[in-house]
Amino acid sequence: MSLNTRHSGVGMTSQRTRARMIERIRAQGIVDEVVLAAMNMVPRHIFIEEVLASRAYDSVALPINFGQTISNPFIVARMSELLRAGLNLDKVLEIGTGCGYQTAVLARLANEVYSIERIGALLTRTRTRLRELRLNNVRLKHADGLLGLSEVSPFDGIIITAATMHIPLPLLEQLRVGGRIIFPRGNKEQYLCVIERNLDGYVETVLDEVNFVPVLSGIVQE
Ligand code: SAH
Repeated sequence: MSLNTRHSGVGMTSQRTRARMIERIRAQGIVDEVVLAAMNMVPRHIFIEEVLASRAYDSVALPINFGQTISNPFIVARMSELLRAGLNLDKVLEIGTGCGYQTAVLARLANEVYSIERIGALLTRTRTRLRELRLNNVRLKHADGLLGLSEVSPFDGIIITAATMHIPLPLLEQLRVGGRIIFPRGNKEQYLCVIERNLDGYVETVLDEVNFVPVLSGIVQE
């Protein structure tokens, strides 16, 4: 099946299946209608290998090759809602592009999205997918994301989709005053954290227990 055929979607990949996913996420407590509308527009099944595509809209994380996983839809919604905090976003940085699903959702929530992935081969596929979706406000970069992207900073929001114990200083400095970083903090035991930058410094809030693959340093070539 070509990517175009997969876009329109039949059966398990149809708009109705997606609408059911949105209702489930809403029942789980997501209230930001802008996030829900964005997720209703992104065809999640095209981000997943065809053999697993029938499970694309289930409440589960799924493998996406190279030992990585696409987060379950509720987590994507939760992190997006925390990042937005009810405001329109101008510039956003994502670390851990993976299959690009969270990236595509962010593209509908922010004016400009920059996303960094350390695994070259993963990024190559994701680049093709996002191009097919004509998301022209997304820039992808093959690099170690924890260094951030100082040349386009400051960011309104930074989202890290892999777990880490610490946020390096350069990344904290690339956050605009009033902006926030959303990330899973921890190693074996992980909690979703929000770091907000205000005029006096940084304030951290610890939220739900989560389960992400770890942030790793350095890059992997094609
Ligand atoms: N949001 C992605 C999550 C993928 S899993 C999705 O839904 O598909 C986390 C991703 O973070 C993996 O692709 C992994 O390679 C990437 N990653 C881990 N450490 C990184 C780093 N230092 N810089 C950039 N990407 C990193």
